[in-house]
Amino acid sequence: MAMYASRLAENLPRVQEIVTAAAERSGRGGEDVTVVAITKAHPLAAIEAALAAGIRDIGENRIEEMEEKVAALGRAAAHWHMVGHVQSRKASRAVALADLVHSVDTVRLGQKLSRAAQSTDGKVSVLVQVNTSGEGAKSGFPGDNVLEGLHGLLELPGLSIAGFMTMAPWTDDEGRLRAAFRRLREIHEEATRSTGYSGKELSMGMTNDYPIAVEEGSTIVRIGTALFGERPR
Ligand SMILES: *Cc1c(COP(=O)(O)O)cnc(C)c1O
Repeated sequence: MAMYASRLAENLPRVQEIVTAAAERSGRGGEDVTVVAITKAHPLAAIEAALAAGIRDIGENRIEEMEEKVAALGRAAAHWHMVGHVQSRKASRAVALADLVHSVDTVRLGQKLSRAAQSTDGKVSVLVQVNTSGEGAKSGFPGDNVLEGLHGLLELPGLSIAGFMTMAPWTDDEGRLRAAFRRLREIHEEATRSTGYSGKELSMGMTNDYPIAVEEGSTIVRIGTALFGERPR
């Protein structure tokens, strides 16, 4: 706990300053961007330190690890975000664990999540993941197919579609990073014009690229390393 508390004491104000400055460059304020602390591969102590430092939003990328952490800390202890790929057969576990699922990458997964949410009389808030870089290894709807997928997802009664999410290519090339984020914002604008979609969120930006993502309109950044240091192996 002490180690994570001291890392956060140093890192969190810096991350918040960078987010605020980038938001201001995009005509917004720091309060328009939510920082989700990504705690995957870190122990519970990292989450406890984050909550103590005033962070409310916690993100994990594996269902099993998230289940353990949510069980230990309590479902109401944080706003829990599922940011990793979810296998269809684990959809009902994701619905039980997460306040926001960032990674709906197929209509089939959307159907499973919708059904699971409806069976508990509710809706699950989700983001539609888009592969904006064209890299084969990345999940998400290809940029060209996303509106078609969105039409299918909008029909599902158990889904509340809050916006879009993307992972930028792994590069330091600012032009390529900016192009990926801009592409997501354009998809969001097009979806708003041409479908019944009324989501507001753009989940984009990680340690490597969040200042650029916020400049391009991100409303949610997902940050691990810049807050907690390198992940333990
Ligand atoms: C791990 C992860 C992050 C955070 O990555 P950092 O580079 O440590 O900030 C963000 N989003 C997703 C989907 C992740 O899996």
